[in-house]
Amino acid sequence: MSTHKPATIAVRTGIESDTQHHAVVPPIYLSTNYGFPAFGEVPKYDYTRSGNPNRGLLEQTLFELESGKGAVITNCGTSALNLWATAFLGPDDLIVAPHDCYGGSYRLFNTRAQKGDFKVLFVDQSDPSALTEALAQKPKLVLVETPSNPLVRVVDIAALCEQAHAVDALVAVDNTFLTPVFQKPLELGADFVIHSTTKYINGHSDVIGGVVITKTEQHAEELAWWGNCIGATGTPFDSYMTLRGLRTLGARMRVHEESSREILSYLQNHQSVGTIYHPSLPEHPGHAIALKQQSGFGSMLSFEFAGSFEQLKTFVSALKLFSLAESLGGVESLICHPASMTHRAMGEAALAEAGVSQQLLRLSVGLEDVQDLISDLEQAFNVAAEDN
Ligand SMILES: *Cc1c(COP(=O)(O)O)cnc(C)c1O
Repeated sequence: MSTHKPATIAVRTGIESDTQHHAVVPPIYLSTNYGFPAFGEVPKYDYTRSGNPNRGLLEQTLFELESGKGAVITNCGTSALNLWATAFLGPDDLIVAPHDCYGGSYRLFNTRAQKGDFKVLFVDQSDPSALTEALAQKPKLVLVETPSNPLVRVVDIAALCEQAHAVDALVAVDNTFLTPVFQKPLELGADFVIHSTTKYINGHSDVIGGVVITKTEQHAEELAWWGNCIGATGTPFDSYMTLRGLRTLGARMRVHEESSREILSYLQNHQSVGTIYHPSLPEHPGHAIALKQQSGFGSMLSFEFAGSFEQLKTFVSALKLFSLAESLGGVESLICHPASMTHRAMGEAALAEAGVSQQLLRLSVGLEDVQDLISDLEQAFNVAAEDN
């Protein structure tokens, strides 16, 4: 296992590994199949659905970053979650998932449970009695997503893992929002880490991908078997691109976070801004746990727009450097109105229960110059203020 820091692992893994031409950057292998060296002699790679050098290198980089023993790269984050559930759940098994998990994860588990593939219970994992009640039903798997989307609620990973392991449940943490640069769930007791690599891991909003990382070699073998069986694995080109994006993870996360800090202090002093949601704020309910289990607070934040709904729309339209779009974690800054975009499928009652109001806006702070970003917010707030 590598003793290097995340930035070094991300940059160096696989560099100078080409033995044929000594290419510094590992070459891309697009071939779907590989020759057998001799009759009956199975090579390391034989067919790309089951294995490929570029996918293998991305897997190695990611499991070393998360201090795991193995990984399976999938064609998207959703298929990583699906692979994990398929590998470990039968019709009588229960999975416990967060009530405010990523919308696609909610749809996946809910729909498959309705088909009878397994049972699912969605609970507020920051509510100790709700969690204890759910674990009393002896789930096989527990999914944790911390910080959550869009209100960045925080769950105590170590405490939850201890409780889950007491009833023999296996725990996966969806670490998409923080990446191993800011949070290492396996070191806090989790059995698996899942990422939508579409977000910060690739970081350039040009590849859809996912990964399941395991704490044990045995689980990695089981997941690799299932990944090949159901055809969930990622393509060589996507793996090549994702590793290229991943190389700069350490530097990107540092700037994402520095800029978020400046944007937060700007927003805190603005009359058009109500409640701000970010784990770095002392008044945030998850602040103490975040300090304990995270080494950074991340660059996803949301806030209540303190003005009319018409002014909110004017504000969003007036922004020039924040694109109105879903997704997150790319170099470009984004703004999202969860109630009409990422979370629109939830319906009004579920939105209210999850605390997602019509006034809520979510920012994914990108890597543009932060003074330019703040000036852009300022001019858009001014345009909105004039719009009475
Ligand atoms: C985007 C996302 C997913 C789903 O990943 P895809 O790559 O879009 O399939 C899962 N979990 C979280 C937290 C996400 O942000």
